[in-house]
Amino acid sequence: MPLRPVVVVHYHEISLKRGNRPLFLRHLARNLRSAIADLGPATVRQRPGRIVLDLDGHPQPEAVCERVQRVCGVASVSLGYRTSSTLSAMQSLIGRLVEGQTFDSFRITARRAFKTYPMSSVELNRALGAFVLERVKTRVDLEHPAVEIAVEVLPDEAFVSLDRRPGPGGLPVGAGGTVAALISGGIDSPVAAWRMMKRGCRVVFVHFHSVPYLPDTSQVKVRALVERLTQWQYASRLHLVPFGEIQREVVLSVPPPARVVVYRRLMIRIAEAIARASGALALATGESLGQVASQTLENVATIDAAARMPVLRPLIGTDKLEITDEAKRLGTFETSIEPDADCCTLFVPKHPATRMTPAEADALEARLDVDRLVAAGVDGAAVETFAFPGGVAASR
Ligand code: ATP
Ligand code: MG
Repeated sequence: MPLRPVVVVHYHEISLKRGNRPLFLRHLARNLRSAIADLGPATVRQRPGRIVLDLDGHPQPEAVCERVQRVCGVASVSLGYRTSSTLSAMQSLIGRLVEGQTFDSFRITARRAFKTYPMSSVELNRALGAFVLERVKTRVDLEHPAVEIAVEVLPDEAFVSLDRRPGPGGLPVGAGGTVAALISGGIDSPVAAWRMMKRGCRVVFVHFHSVPYLPDTSQVKVRALVERLTQWQYASRLHLVPFGEIQREVVLSVPPPARVVVYRRLMIRIAEAIARASGALALATGESLGQVASQTLENVATIDAAARMPVLRPLIGTDKLEITDEAKRLGTFETSIEPDADCCTLFVPKHPATRMTPAEADALEARLDVDRLVAAGVDGAAVETFAFPGGVAASR
């Protein structure tokens, strides 16, 4: 009998205590299917307390496991094998898995997904542990085993695996609604967008560029970043908003120190229109309190005064070092640090106002035709779509 590989997915129980458990699991199962769609045939099954991917005859179970490790909502994942839930079936499977292996120490971690099984977990641990000791020269170490043999017993089947790996945790993308993330090409905003995905949001990306006043470097970077981030949500839309002309008009009537906040308020208004059209209920930015001169509490309040949707700032309390580490883990860092003259380096003052009030911003904006500028940004936006697996799918 050939071994029957499975990938067993565990999710976080806590998030399931609420009444939305079936919905949560539907999103998770759908995302798992999307994540491995190109790798080969797999059946995704919901079982009590876990989701199981049957990989009978699958060409690359290890690749499936690696993809699943990145799916939001996955607390842990193991590549294992399936058998029936009798003791003798489990023993013979374990026998095949440890045959010819050497390891200093091990433990059995048996879990029963139903409590009417004739043996308790402790009895299973003992019986299976004794079985291993008869076949391999090794010892039991419950604290720091070199190998942990996880056994999960369901009424009609059992799974045995030798490697359990952590997933990202969080909630499945899509279970938490849609947000529009302002993405700049810098280090912070891609991490902020990913944090929203991890909390179950689908992210629509909005980037402001200054072509033709500046080269298209920022767009090239943002495309690469969105392509990377699409690995966590499988399909993305990127809205590229022409902002150079808008900035030029701001420069004509707004004094240098006030420009950053005025730009940001215009960005927020444009992004909000795009968000509304995309079914998003909130915006997200990569701001972190005090990180740069313009990111003060006063300015945050003044930016938010121009918004009608909530502006979420998942990094607001995160240090630059932590953000940088996370960007490295996500694989966005290398792209983010590529040199770039992003739109905010154009027409941007050396010393931005650190404490602008909403009233001051309103007064300056009275010199501008804000509605026309917002409409120009919204109407001028181009949309590109990204898909994973599969890279850029199409653009408009
Ligand atoms: P980042 O590393 O994300 O660029 P930052 O530390 O450079 O952030 P700011 O330049 O003050 O900070 O930008 C604050 C936030 O405003 C960014 O995190 C991003 O969400 C948004 N933002 C700034 N510039 C742009 C842009 N050109 N397009 C879209 N969003 C932008
Ligand atoms: Mg930046």
